[in-house]
Amino acid sequence: RLELRNICRRFGGREVVSDLSLKVMPGQVTCLLGPSGCGKSTTLRIIAGVDMQDAGEIYVDGNLVCDTVFRVPPEQRSIGLMFQDFALFPHLSVQENVGFGLKVHKSDKANRVDDLLDKVGLKHFKDKYPHELSGGEQQRVALARALAPKPSIMLMDEPFSGLDDRLKDDIRDSTLDLLKEEGTAVLLVTHEPHEAMRMADEIALMRDGRIVQQGAPYNIYNAPVDRKAAAFFSDVN
Ligand code: ATP
Ligand code: MG
Repeated sequence: RLELRNICRRFGGREVVSDLSLKVMPGQVTCLLGPSGCGKSTTLRIIAGVDMQDAGEIYVDGNLVCDTVFRVPPEQRSIGLMFQDFALFPHLSVQENVGFGLKVHKSDKANRVDDLLDKVGLKHFKDKYPHELSGGEQQRVALARALAPKPSIMLMDEPFSGLDDRLKDDIRDSTLDLLKEEGTAVLLVTHEPHEAMRMADEIALMRDGRIVQQGAPYNIYNAPVDRKAAAFFSDVN
């Protein structure tokens, strides 16, 4: 479970994230949806611990991980990351990529890696290297790698944007199935309403650093808060 309370972030006097509060529950996908520049990635970077807010607190499973004075290091936050530009290690095989950073006993590690590769349908590729895989396959390996340490929270920033349209929906659906099975709380960032409608249990619509509307996808789609929100959803079918 992830909870953000009143997060603010300023860059050079400009407030890019303003008083943002949000909860993400286990086994649920919450989508931060909004146009380019509205502050989505900045919010994720703060949660991941690679940037710091100017005000507000972040809790993971009820424990404070970060306020303006106290800060748990990124690798101790039980947070998995899947970003578009967060590439696989090119010199490591598929199974080495998935097991990288997994600090458990050797045999437990092999079991966990095998299980995850099985779940993403890539067990037969375990000795291959990233350059031998398609973009979609690499994305599935990245998902397995992010899930390997069983994080409570998964942060995904436009993870499917590099993929070909034909593949996208398949990968979205299989990713979703695996995340639900693992019971991870997912915060997915996207600027594509279609992706949010397809994947989210809850959408937080963002504009100029603020959440302007929040709710179930169809409620937001059917009753957008204002004209701007309606226009943003107008190309979804
Ligand atoms: P996109 O959909 O294009 O990825 P985004 O919603 O993820 O957009 P952010 O990357 O969070 O947007 O950026 C929000 C705003 O903050 C932008 O105007 C950006 O220029 C600004 N910004 C982000 N990082 C910094 C930084 N390190 N220094 C100054 N300004 C920044
Ligand atoms: Mg971004």
